[in-house]
Amino acid sequence: MNLLLFGAPGAGKGTQSALLVERRGYRHISTGDLFRAAIKNETALGLEAKKYMDKGELVPDSIVIGMVDEELQTLQGQSFILDGFPRTVPQADALDNLLKESAMKIDKAIFLEVPREQIVKRLSGRRMTPDGKHVYHVEYAPPKVAGICDVTGEKLIQRNDDKEEVIERRLEAYDSSTKPLKDYYRKKGNLVELNGVGSAEEVYSRISQALDT
Ligand code: AMP
Repeated sequence: MNLLLFGAPGAGKGTQSALLVERRGYRHISTGDLFRAAIKNETALGLEAKKYMDKGELVPDSIVIGMVDEELQTLQGQSFILDGFPRTVPQADALDNLLKESAMKIDKAIFLEVPREQIVKRLSGRRMTPDGKHVYHVEYAPPKVAGICDVTGEKLIQRNDDKEEVIERRLEAYDSSTKPLKDYYRKKGNLVELNGVGSAEEVYSRISQALDT
């Protein structure tokens, strides 16, 4: 079963994807992670994407779609979760075409609903290891020693685009471009709307239940 996880930035897509990978063996395709890896490796794609990401804007569709196309071609039949893609209706149409070409489909498009005030608190307090693998929150999930990762001992960082001035831009992009995808998948008949408020385990059990019914 192939999944798509969408919702506002900070709705918990990355956290839930990590749990789904660990417990259900999915392959995780996160366009945000792919861009951050490209930025770290200083590739041409990374340098281009960074211009948009630092401002809280969406990277142009053509760049994102090409990158996802390459990822889909490496799947070899493994079930996958798309996290952070599609983020616009043209991306959703392009995804449809790419999947059709490979006789694949999205079985469930899971939307995680989290109220706006919580989203802003979650994003502005989020801290992580430089590779983004271990994620904390200054208030809701603090590390044992402030600013230091419990697992690796590394100094925690704040993502450039989690700074307050950029958060607003990301939320605007979400409202204007990504929210309409709810209707898009509702019309297709595979939308699953879930409450994204609560602990990671609480949200995971809602997702798990939706997958098993
Ligand atoms: P994320 O880690 O999913 O919050 O993504 C971080 C940033 O990467 C976003 O704010 C965008 O600038 C860019 N990005 C990630 N996925 C997409 C996408 N599907 N379309 C356009 N831009 C994207």
